[in-house]
Amino acid sequence: MKIVMLGAPGAGKGTQAKRIAEACGIPHISTGDIFRSNIKAGTELGKQAKAFMDQGALVPDEITVGMLMDRIHETDCKDGYVLDGFPRTIPQAESLTEALSRTGEAIDAAIDIEVPDEDIVLRMGGRRACLHCGATYHTCFHPPRLENICDHCGHELVLRDDDKPETVKTRLEVYHAHTYPLIAYYRAAGVLHEVDGTKNMDQVFAEIREIL
Ligand code: ADP
Ligand code: ADP
Ligand code: ZN
Repeated sequence: MKIVMLGAPGAGKGTQAKRIAEACGIPHISTGDIFRSNIKAGTELGKQAKAFMDQGALVPDEITVGMLMDRIHETDCKDGYVLDGFPRTIPQAESLTEALSRTGEAIDAAIDIEVPDEDIVLRMGGRRACLHCGATYHTCFHPPRLENICDHCGHELVLRDDDKPETVKTRLEVYHAHTYPLIAYYRAAGVLHEVDGTKNMDQVFAEIREIL
């Protein structure tokens, strides 16, 4: 099962992708998480990506596509994966389609989580991230058991630099200009499923389970 998550930043892609990955026993691959762990480790890739991420801009396709291709060819991906945050541009989607078609494969489902921009601002302002294990919380909608401490690994939670209101605005503009067209792309491919992302996390997941 190869699944692509679509939706604005903050729509709940990561939250749902983790649940799908667990339910289906396949890896959750978040390009944002891969970039953030490279930044944390101080790699060359991390340095290149950080400049774009801090601005709320996309990391160029030349960097992103190669990184994702390497990841999906690792052995844990042989039975499928959930992609979260990739593709984010039409050229990225085309590269993925092309790479898969070489071995007669294709994306089985693209799940678009729909949330209006007004709600997105609220979600990202309250998002708290664990940069150690990648877990995500929300101050109101999904608080950790202990304030500002990750339930899974005990590290401190942070407000990501790119979740500050000025950057969120840019990221939403980037989403509408570059990523939104992917909905039509996957609809044309016959694999698009739209879910109402304004419901609570369990309800959204129930809808996705039905689709899968
Ligand atoms: P969110 O979960 O809020 O949608 P991500 O963690 O997916 O955010 O991404 C954070 C940032 O990482 C993006 O704003 C962008 O700068 C960079 N990024 C992640 N995935 C991609 C991608 N596929 N192409 C280009 N840039 C990306
Ligand atoms: P994305 O990966 O699309 O950027 P996340 O999964 O990180 O989105 O979710 C963004 C924020 O909204 C997080 O703080 C998360 O806990 C919260 N969130 C996710 N899904 C829901 C939901 N259905 N209702 C309310 N808050 C949600
Ligand atoms: Zn953690």
